[in-house]
Formats: sequence, structure tokens, C-alpha cells
Amino acid sequence: MEANIIDGKALSNRLRESIKSRVEELKSRKGITPGLTVILVGNDPASAVYVRNKERACKQVGMNSSIIKLGEDTTQEELLRHIERLNKDKGVHGILVQLPLPPQIDPTQVINAIDPRKDVDGFHPMNVGRLVTGQACLEPCTPKGIIRLIQETGEPIRGKNAVVIGRSNIVGKPVSLMLLKNDATVTICHSKTSGLDEICRRADILVVAVGRPNFVDNRYVRDGAIVIDVGINRVDGKLVGDVDFQEVRQKAGWITPVPGGVGPMTITMLLENTLQAAQQNE
Ligand code: NAD
Repeated sequence: MEANIIDGKALSNRLRESIKSRVEELKSRKGITPGLTVILVGNDPASAVYVRNKERACKQVGMNSSIIKLGEDTTQEELLRHIERLNKDKGVHGILVQLPLPPQIDPTQVINAIDPRKDVDGFHPMNVGRLVTGQACLEPCTPKGIIRLIQETGEPIRGKNAVVIGRSNIVGKPVSLMLLKNDATVTICHSKTSGLDEICRRADILVVAVGRPNFVDNRYVRDGAIVIDVGINRVDGKLVGDVDFQEVRQKAGWITPVPGGVGPMTITMLLENTLQAAQQNE
């Protein structure tokens, strides 16, 4: 039997409706309009598209949104001065610096300079530390969206074997922690893992965040597994994931498509985090 599709676009649309009404409520009850400022440095075309999509999504749910565009030759000091100003600005509840940054700028220093209460990407070490120790925090958007997609299947995460391929700071590591928080037994795999296919075949939940088109095929998938494809790869002008969708949908129980799976959820979780930051810092 073919896998059920976990429709990230439909789930996103539902969640955005709910965010929109909570934004309305915050406005009418407290006179606060949640505001996100995104800083874009340089001329990366993909980054420019992501930033525009974030701005559009904010406007759709009634949030304020602004973009600060800085040139390719911006110094680290200049960027840090912008962040310092935004940290103090009461109308700005979320600050996001679009990555990657040009080589003269150290992303770690930039992330560390953002007020953790406005760190809607959830990358600041304070938020990461709170995530590790199980305290409330601003959670990183893509992993948060992945957990929501898994919950959408209606299958409990508790007690399941979860395998994550990828150990990046923005996806692999945090999603592993969040699966653990939800009582899964978690295995983290990476480029030096041996016997990857065998480990993956034990997974009830398989999260793939590698960045290689069609990396995972049926040899990696257990019958009926939940497969979450985080990858975004451009092949011949088309977006494809890290999972061979056509093949794996014949074996998995649930699968996310690319596009229309994790991607829309990432922006929706950014909206949730901005709302959360506005509610907490009113
Ligand atoms: P990354 O390059 O930082 O990490 C890739 C990970 O894959 C590494 O930990 C590496 O160890 C592992 N890996 C590489 N080759 C491997 C192999 N042969 N076997 C096992 N593991 C291997 O990437 P990332 O930032 O985590 O992103 C991963 C993918 O997810 C990319 O395609 C990226 O574009 C996509 N992504 C999508 C969203 C979204 O919103 N949908 C958000 C972030 C990232």
C-alpha cells in the first residue's frame, strides 16, 4: 500500500489561521503588534527568496515585518551595531539574520549578539542550552516543524525508534533533542556512520537532513515507517528532497513531500516563535 502523505502545506495553512487570530487578540487586548526584522547581508539569490517569503508570511498573519538589506562588503562591526539597535527596539520582537553570511563575518559572533528573547531562529546558545536541559525556550524552526509533522500522523512518538541522518546545529542535533524530549529512542547518524542502511531500517521514524538528492531509497526504510524529508536540493531547475519519494512511498507508512512538506512548516514556526516572543516580552 502507498504511504500516506503528510501535507505540510495544509497543516501550515491551518496553523497560520490560528496564529492570525492570536495576533489579532494580542493587538486588541494589549495593543501589541508582533514584529519581525530580518537582516539580509549580500547578494545570495536563494537567501533573497527566503527573506521575501518570510516577510510575506508575516504580513499574511497581521505581523509587522521589515528587512534590512546590507551590502556584500558589510563589516562585522556594522552588522553587530544593527543587532544592538534592534535588541533595544521595543517594536521588534524577533530578529533573524539570514545565513549564510559573507566570509568576513563570523556567524557565531552574530548569533551570540542577538538578545536570546528575540532569537526567533532558536540558534543562540542560551536557547540551545535551555533546549538541552528541557526548559522552555524559543525552539529552532525547522526541527519544531518536523515534530508537528510527525504529530500530524496521529502516531505517538513515545517509545518509538527514531533515526536522524545529519548532525547539523540547525536541523540534525536539535531535532534529535526534541525527539528525545518526546520520549523516542534516538540514534543520530552522519557522514562517518558505518552500516547506515541497517541502522535506518530499524527506524519507526526516519528524519533525513543530509542535503543530497534522493539519498535515501527503499534499502533504508522499514515497512510502515514515518519518513520526514528535510532536504532541499535543486536538480535541473526542480526542487527535490533527500528521499527518493516515488520509491519510498511504496514502503513507508507516512512520508513528507518536497516541496510541500517541511519547507512551509519552517516559516510557520518562525511566525509562531515571533508571536511567542511578543507575548513574553509585552
Ligand atoms: P549540513 O550540510 O549542515 O549537514 C548535513 C549533514 O549530513 C551532516 O551532519 C553530515 O554529517 C551528514 N551527511 C553528509 N553526507 C552523509 C552521508 N553520506 N551519510 C550520512 N550522513 C551524511 O546540512 P543542513 O543544514 O542540516 O541541511 C540538510 C538539508 O536540509 C539541506 O538540503 C538543506 O537545504 C535542507 N534544509 C531544509 C530546511 C527546510 O526548511 N526545509 C531547513 C534547513 C535545511
